[in-house]
Amino acid sequence: MKILKFGGSSVADAKNINKVLDIILKLQKTGENIIVVVSALGGVTDDLLTIISLALNGENKYRKIFDVMCDRHNQVIQELINLEDRKRVSKQIGKKFKELEEVVQSIFFATNAPPHLRDTVVSFGEQLSAYLISEVIKSRGIESNFVDARALIKTDENFGEANVDIGDSYKLISEYFTKNRALSVMGGFIASTKEGVTTTLGRGGSDYTASLVGAALNAGAIEIWTDVDGLMTADPRKVNNAIIIPEISYEKAEEMANAGAKVIHPKTMKPAKLKNIPIYIKNTFNPKSKGTKISND
Ligand code: ADP
Ligand code: ASP
Ligand code: MG
Repeated sequence: MKILKFGGSSVADAKNINKVLDIILKLQKTGENIIVVVSALGGVTDDLLTIISLALNGENKYRKIFDVMCDRHNQVIQELINLEDRKRVSKQIGKKFKELEEVVQSIFFATNAPPHLRDTVVSFGEQLSAYLISEVIKSRGIESNFVDARALIKTDENFGEANVDIGDSYKLISEYFTKNRALSVMGGFIASTKEGVTTTLGRGGSDYTASLVGAALNAGAIEIWTDVDGLMTADPRKVNNAIIIPEISYEKAEEMANAGAKVIHPKTMKPAKLKNIPIYIKNTFNPKSKGTKISND
């Protein structure tokens, strides 16, 4: 069993999602059990936060961002969903956008956004991407199961940066995946309280979701697929001569993440370390590169 997590740039548009599919399907052919964890389409979480701010200020401009977001998801449907399924998938995505619109409108009219409503709005990014990518996989003729992560990851009410109830979540994850063996796709970052109120795990938290799922299921590996060749000595966008770190301990990786290496969320290391599961950081756009292995070795 392997957990494959794809970040926002990996799933930003149809072209990139095709690369993600190549990686998933290549592994699937080997007979490996796979759970896919995805982020929102690149930039969508930021856009949702902007929508909240604009709606809060009573600024109608949020509509424009909303419409572009809608178009981006529909474009993926047009390019990657089989003709016979397009209507059904469009309808489902449309329903989600309607739901989102209603929450945003309530913020707009009340000019008030309590923390739980902010998390609800922000969660739509991963709700949409996970459903969409699961359908794209089906369009390639592979059985795929869309899983609402909120039913499996349980947290307290610390909205925006909720703390995971490990016991409850691991139980729900292992119960669910013992019964459902097909390739599954779930959103990272999103969760819910015991009462079912939507929460989020903090920015960049999809990596953490992947690690939680991997640890709950004693997976063989957790793969974090992103847009750089691995964990590097510095942010390659800022430092020209940054080099890849081929292997690193959980402790050092956590230290680097806490110091700002955004390629992996700092909370990702603990669940994997406790179960001694290696984490690999790999590049969706350069899959042949060896990447970084984080382990006890
Ligand atoms: P994803 O959307 O795949 O989760 P992120 O944007 O969260 O990707 O993380 C990847 C980015 O992290 C890279 O594009 C890179 O600019 C940045 N980054 C910062 N520090 C490091 C580092 N030490 N090594 C690699 N990437 C880093
Ligand atoms: N989509 C969320 C964010 O942008 C979570 C993630 O990408 O890991 O923070
Ligand atoms: Mg990230």
